[in-house]
Amino acid sequence: MATKKVKEQARKILKDIFGYDNFRPMQEEIICSLMDGKDAFVLMPTGGGKSLCYQIPAIMREGTGIVVSPLISLMKDQVDALTACGVKAAYYNSSLKAAEAKDVLARFECGDLDLLYAAPERLLSKGFLAKMDQVKLAMFAIDEAHCVSQWGHDFRPEYVRLGELRQIFPDVPMLALTATADEHTREDISDRLQLGKAKRFVASFDRPNIRYLVAEKRQPLTQILQFLEGWSNCSGIIYCLSRKRVEDLAVNLQRHGIRAAAYHAGIPGRSREKVQDDFLRDRIKVIVATIAFGMGVDKPNVRFVIHHDLPKSIESYYQETGRAGRDGLESEALMLYGSGDVNLVRRLIENVENIDQRRVEVHKLNSMVAFSEALTCRRRVLLGYFGEPLDEPCGNCDICLDPPETYDATEFAEAALQCVREINGDFGMGYIVDVLRGSKNARILEHKHDKLKSHGSGADINADEWTSILRQLVHHGYFVQDVSRRAAMLATKKAERIGNGTPIMLAKYQPGIRRHFKRLGMPRDEALFKKLVKLREDIADREDVPPHVVFSDVTLTEMSQRKPVSEESMRTISGVGQHKLEEYGEAFIALINKHVESGDGKKGTKVGGKDIPMLIAKGPGLNETQTYILSLYRKGVSLEDIAAQQGVSETTVLKHYVAIIRAGQHIDVPAFIGDDFDTLMAELDNADPYASLTEVKRDLSVDLNNDEFRLLLAWREAIGVA
Ligand code: ADP
Ligand code: ZN
Repeated sequence: MATKKVKEQARKILKDIFGYDNFRPMQEEIICSLMDGKDAFVLMPTGGGKSLCYQIPAIMREGTGIVVSPLISLMKDQVDALTACGVKAAYYNSSLKAAEAKDVLARFECGDLDLLYAAPERLLSKGFLAKMDQVKLAMFAIDEAHCVSQWGHDFRPEYVRLGELRQIFPDVPMLALTATADEHTREDISDRLQLGKAKRFVASFDRPNIRYLVAEKRQPLTQILQFLEGWSNCSGIIYCLSRKRVEDLAVNLQRHGIRAAAYHAGIPGRSREKVQDDFLRDRIKVIVATIAFGMGVDKPNVRFVIHHDLPKSIESYYQETGRAGRDGLESEALMLYGSGDVNLVRRLIENVENIDQRRVEVHKLNSMVAFSEALTCRRRVLLGYFGEPLDEPCGNCDICLDPPETYDATEFAEAALQCVREINGDFGMGYIVDVLRGSKNARILEHKHDKLKSHGSGADINADEWTSILRQLVHHGYFVQDVSRRAAMLATKKAERIGNGTPIMLAKYQPGIRRHFKRLGMPRDEALFKKLVKLREDIADREDVPPHVVFSDVTLTEMSQRKPVSEESMRTISGVGQHKLEEYGEAFIALINKHVESGDGKKGTKVGGKDIPMLIAKGPGLNETQTYILSLYRKGVSLEDIAAQQGVSETTVLKHYVAIIRAGQHIDVPAFIGDDFDTLMAELDNADPYASLTEVKRDLSVDLNNDEFRLLLAWREAIGVA
């Protein structure tokens, strides 16, 4: 069958050129659809792997693939990355000097390019349209397709005319790609690009490797410094609402020895570009920015995003936090949440003249507040907002990791309901709290609310606690705050259930930051990883490209885990394609060799100094779950978190590990077992060959559970000593 051949060929390119073993969800289907000459509309989150969806078909199909991209910096980055993999790619935009542009066009005309990145205005110029008419075109890819929509967050007028392409070149398949999660924008894109008939590919918008954290904003600088301690030497972005805050925070961080820089629209273009470039090249670690920063940055190893101030909507929050962890490695999104910020935004919204617009803004703010104050899984709230259900709590947000304690609050809910009913009018949450606590302030006396039954009925709880209770009751839908009546508290229909016998469970009020949980560790040889990073930096400097163009953090992580010391084994590392192997293989192998021989490598995979032997695939292949688990493992996700993500027990994951090892893939068992590994291996070597496994296990000096024991046996089998 033709598709089978297409799939094989696509897989070969994936491995030989890009160095990857498996496609991510949907990539293969999208590629096949394009190979079939059909249009496609791809909705995939940031980091989902959109680029390969057009790069591979462009390489496979006859002719040149034209990629439309909104930003010059992104084009250059992509072309650098492709060139490093040995793909014939170039870009055509206003940054080129006349001679360079001529050169690119000449290559295009004689069919020497697999991919040509072009700015939309260039593409639709008369001259270029005429050229495209004469050259064989493989396909069109419209990257960041939301730029075509005014509903989107980054409308670009020059994108609007791209719809014409569908008519001018009806036979060239078109692919539109975006990470926008908003349905309204999606429809608009499809209309404007005339992709009504295109097949839609919608991936999950979950970003499982991003951990969502929200902390009450108290002393932001101290809180941020504390947070950064956990991410020393890693790249991150901190968003602030105003330029002034951006500048202040950047200076403060610099004072604390952090390589930070400010970025906002008020900084001159040239300096802004430099900041961006330094960040991309890992020379600056932390960018403090207004939301102006982000679109043009395709940096895969951003490890954290902090919101110093409240984002203006869930959409923005999702977009901005989404800039973390494109490479799939563990990342964190921290938001500092202060009620002062909420009030500030509310006041700003009150000034909005247009009623409809004001309503929209209020809704957006309320959703953001609900997310921040949520006492259920944050990911669920976030994805729920975009209409994607999450069956199980995620296990990777502050609420899941450190669930708030709950208690039976029925009695308080009853008091609150009574009070709200008695007052029944234009009074907000603060006022209700005052009445419940028995205050006799002027306003209360004026309305004679000190005569109410509920007056003082909750005097034994402090105001903050009451606020927390009322907010939760709002989240649970017992009350609403009517914005058109100055946020008056009103009971809903659901409030009738209060006091009907079902207890109302609320989360205990806990002032302060809730963050007792540990970060996921990456199981890797840190010393080696550092050396690899240094080597990558040297090469990148020499070649004048960003470091991730040489190898990604994922690739270096895997090298530090598996320590390949031959070309054969280096080839099996994810992200090492043929071209990169030839270019950089030797240098990296030499470094790893030196590291292993110096004895620095003893914590990791020390297999008697031998090269990793389990690379020869043997045994049955992996099923889908195992392949997925392996990919999570390779990204550095811990056992605990893999289990949580998959919704299975750690024991089950360990069983999969065993199968994975048996299939000839690498799981770093020595690192997993830890310090006792060598002892255990020696004991197994000396075990009575006629004893049963139960007996052998019993005689070990270290207590292993069954799964650990099986893992160890599988490892021995894999390295050929069992
Ligand atoms: P997006 O454009 O959707 O944000 P990218 O195309 O930049 O995502 O891909 C994100 C990262 O994932 C890149 O580092 C890319 O090399 C990597 N990647 C993409 N597809 C695969 C795959 N099949 N296997 C391993 N890594 C992949
Ligand atoms: Zn969660």
